[in-house]
Amino acid sequence: MQVTQSNMKETVQAKWNKRPLIISGPCSAETEAQVIETAERLARTGKIDMLRAGIWKPRTRPGSFEGIGTKGLPWLQQAKKLTGLPVAVEVATGKQVEDALHFDVDVLWIGARTTVNPFSVQEVADALRGADVPVLIKNPINPDLELWTGAVERVAKAGIKQIGLIHRGFSAYGNTEYRNAPMWHLAIEMKRRNPELMIINDPSHICGRRDILMEVAQKAIDLDFDGLMIESHIDPDNAWSDAKQQVTPERLAEMLGEIVWRKEDINSEEYHAALEKLRQQINHLDDELMQILSQRMKIAEKIGEYKKNNNITILQTNRWNEILERAFRKGEKLGLGKEFITKYFDAVHMESINHQNKIMNS
Ligand code: PEP
Ligand code: MN
Repeated sequence: MQVTQSNMKETVQAKWNKRPLIISGPCSAETEAQVIETAERLARTGKIDMLRAGIWKPRTRPGSFEGIGTKGLPWLQQAKKLTGLPVAVEVATGKQVEDALHFDVDVLWIGARTTVNPFSVQEVADALRGADVPVLIKNPINPDLELWTGAVERVAKAGIKQIGLIHRGFSAYGNTEYRNAPMWHLAIEMKRRNPELMIINDPSHICGRRDILMEVAQKAIDLDFDGLMIESHIDPDNAWSDAKQQVTPERLAEMLGEIVWRKEDINSEEYHAALEKLRQQINHLDDELMQILSQRMKIAEKIGEYKKNNNITILQTNRWNEILERAFRKGEKLGLGKEFITKYFDAVHMESINHQNKIMNS
């Protein structure tokens, strides 16, 4: 079928609603030949829904490749014509929005370094007014759900009806396993607050390296994300940006074949009955835990009375260390992680201090 911009709208609709939605392509459009070969090799896998390519690259430091600019947009048009894949581009200014729309870019996304800046987001939103184009919004580089939400609101107020989220991790100082810490709990919280918005995961910018892309992608699917955006390049090691994290279209197809795709729910009475039974056991145990915690607080209050009568401080560091050491030893035997034990006992200990504080200062 001849790809025209009007039947493309239907294709984009269908892709937007498809689960999982898979977007791939190079970090940056570099040359016309590279864009076209990438698109053709991706299309040949039959596993890709949209082609991505960075045209304007917001680089953290000057001096690295800053994107090919507007001259790359016709290359994307050509790639779309040859493969039928809708194309997605990052926009950070009003002019970039205009240029992208002028060259029939099908989906726009706002990058992490733009989401942090309300002035930039507003400029993009103003340029979007009246346009009928889906927009994906990456999380801001810093772990702030309000900025992410603010960007969604600005774009929505400009009249954009189809908005989706991209979770690409958060900057952290120092070397970690990841280029950007996933902080999954933040993505989960954003999903909880906005159940109507689709959210896809970007393992490439979380990992910053190709060897751990699979595990992050799998985790996203296990957490019921709606899709993935993964960078691919015909010659990853020689990519002009983000070389370490890109994979060839063929390797990407292999990875997508290895992922265990899960669904949020199934229509089976047996499954639901079994699940319900286990959930009741969990509820029951949670109730018991709370009873026990409440008893623990009562005892802490009694200790508070004693301390008050003898004018002793609430916090006794030795005792707190002893509690933690004991909990680590026991927890290890019971299969509970050290990080969990620390967080749990911190919370319990703080609550005990609050209870004692009330007693001591009443
Ligand atoms: C990108 O997608 O190539 C990019 C620059 O991503 P981010 O905004 O997540 O850093
Ligand atoms: Mn990139």
